[in-house]
Amino acid sequence: MFIFDAHLDLSMNALEWNRDLRWPISEIRESEVGMTDKPDRGKNTVSFDAMRKGNIGLCVATQIARYVHQDNPLPGWNSPHQAWAQTQGQLAWYRAMEEAGELVQITNLEQLNAHLEQWNTSTDEHKPIGYILSLEGADSIISIEHLQRSYEQGLRAIGPAHYGPGTYAYGTDSVGGIGTKGKELLKEVARLNMILDATHLCDQSFWEAMDVYQGAVWASHNNCRKLVDHNRQFSDEQLQELINRNAVIGMVLDAWMMVPNWIRGQSTPQEMGASLQQMADNIDHICQMAGNTLHVGIGTDLDGGFGKEQSPADLDTIADLKQVPELLTGRGYTQTDIENIMHGNFLRFLKTHWK
Ligand SMILES: [Zn+2]
Repeated sequence: MFIFDAHLDLSMNALEWNRDLRWPISEIRESEVGMTDKPDRGKNTVSFDAMRKGNIGLCVATQIARYVHQDNPLPGWNSPHQAWAQTQGQLAWYRAMEEAGELVQITNLEQLNAHLEQWNTSTDEHKPIGYILSLEGADSIISIEHLQRSYEQGLRAIGPAHYGPGTYAYGTDSVGGIGTKGKELLKEVARLNMILDATHLCDQSFWEAMDVYQGAVWASHNNCRKLVDHNRQFSDEQLQELINRNAVIGMVLDAWMMVPNWIRGQSTPQEMGASLQQMADNIDHICQMAGNTLHVGIGTDLDGGFGKEQSPADLDTIADLKQVPELLTGRGYTQTDIENIMHGNFLRFLKTHWK
């Protein structure tokens, strides 16, 4: 089955982890044996080869670079200008992968339809994977004029915040509103007909954004607070608001967001019983709230700074998303429901939005 993954940090892995995503998973893992600079060394789960094996023909891929004030302990750049340059480097990598025939950027309805046609009919084992460019955390947008520039480069979705306080909104593990700058940003997001990604907004920023913004919104990678109680997750009230706005919410496979009481760097998927079953639990929860299967998708985040050590135990690579349809069948979902979840809902969202 065709799979749409609404959240991958491909360029971050290529440039900050020095991973050539054209290599098979096994080669990337081998090349990282003995490295200790990052917790997921030798345990990555995403490469172009694995995506093709899983029939993940389209994804939302990020640019990501944080700007931090001097009093902010999170890692990040000391100026928005450096953060901007980082995202421009990331864009250069996406362009290089397009030139190499690995990726194709999707920015409008015509390209989307053409890509789906090509992916579903071509027998080429090396066909390019489609990507929709998104910005995770807007700190790198130096001025509002830079958003227009990013749009011209193909940027189609934007999450105003990531972790901590940001220029335009407060993110995960922080508390605060969107302020004048956030309002200006959202106005421009709507004017450019971009998609607001509500993921990572803290509660206050989330509700303030909902008050002033009437454009298209999705949540690329978010699970349910009801199942794992943390501010990174959406409350039922937030989920209901997103459902009311015709949003699609991508289910994330970062283990700490799937099972309660996970301790990062200590807990293991095996001992905590983290598996794709919890993804199905999150899907169930949202479908029960909505009364249909039209608001859930997949947004794995499988290369978001973690690997097998913090992923479902029954997943070795992203290709194992292939197991999800059968798992949902086991829970009574129909073929149409499953198609909605694996790709249909996000595709419908994009087709409606780009019409
Ligand atoms: Zn994220």
